[in-house]
Amino acid sequence: MSDHLRNTGPMLASPRCGARTRCGDACRSPAVHGKKRCRMHGGAPGSGAPKANRNARKHGLFTRDAIAERRGIRALLGEARKLLGEMK
Ligand SMILES: [Zn+2]
Repeated sequence: MSDHLRNTGPMLASPRCGARTRCGDACRSPAVHGKKRCRMHGGAPGSGAPKANRNARKHGLFTRDAIAERRGIRALLGEARKLLGEMK
């Protein structure tokens, strides 16, 4: 037998997935780096909801940028109306 010293401590100490498996107990696979689940339970790259809840966005009418744009247009229209009123 080889006298190679195995260093599996850090590997075994890595955070575990913990998702419920089909047999009812917790998954013991290592969690993907930076995530809480393993590659089979939602930790795979590209999985999960996008940042800032982009799934819920339908048309962008109420985004911060759209609201600011409308506010700017309203202010400009108000100033134009005021100017036209002063010209009379
Ligand atoms: Zn898992």
